[in-house]
Amino acid sequence: MFNVVNLLGYFNSFRAGLVHLIYPDLCLHCKRALHHNHPFLCYACLSRIELVKWREKETHHLLQQSLNDPHLSCSVILYRFEKGGAVQTILHELKYKNNREIGLYFGRLIGEEARNKLASHTIDALIPVPIHHRKRFDRGYNQSELLAKGISSLTGIQVKSHLLSKTRNTKSQTKVSKEDRIENTAGTFSVAEEVKEYTSIALVDDVITTGATAGSICKALRKKNKNLQITILSLSIASRN
Ligand SMILES: [Zn+2]
Repeated sequence: MFNVVNLLGYFNSFRAGLVHLIYPDLCLHCKRALHHNHPFLCYACLSRIELVKWREKETHHLLQQSLNDPHLSCSVILYRFEKGGAVQTILHELKYKNNREIGLYFGRLIGEEARNKLASHTIDALIPVPIHHRKRFDRGYNQSELLAKGISSLTGIQVKSHLLSKTRNTKSQTKVSKEDRIENTAGTFSVAEEVKEYTSIALVDDVITTGATAGSICKALRKKNKNLQITILSLSIASRN
């Protein structure tokens, strides 16, 4: 029997196939056509990214050292950041190309990993690493907040961006010498009184480079609530500090 709904469905998938043939989706990093399910990177680029989960304990220990926070509860980080690699391309798209879907997508991937790893570990709130309100106005969004929303959609943990704000617009960390980085971020974060009501939070970041920013935030959070359990959820971490 003639079925209009089915026919429309066939037509739409046929049209989507045609569009894909004429304008194939390209890998963001190498610009070759995508032939599989990942929406942003091709298989070759994906396979070159080092997954942090293979060296999880070592990475967590390194994180405690670079953040200067031995009490850091737990961490879930997806990828190792390499200069010129596919992760750098992803971060660039996320920060400067208004590609919001990429933030939500990778947030969901972090959420999936966190859900498996932190099953017995309760987290009360997700706090994205803040950017200064002027930068947020120019960019239109905070990339870490997009990641947090993606994580929230899988874990159900609420995003509480208002708990932490950046009060001073600092220079980009990449343009500052290593010695000045800690000084550069010190005293630039303001923590809401409400943090005292929480037992365990997760700080959400796009990339941990020197650890100076996340370290300053942990210090500021613990100053307000000294027994707070802090977990780090990040898309990536740089190879060397
Ligand atoms: Zn590629």
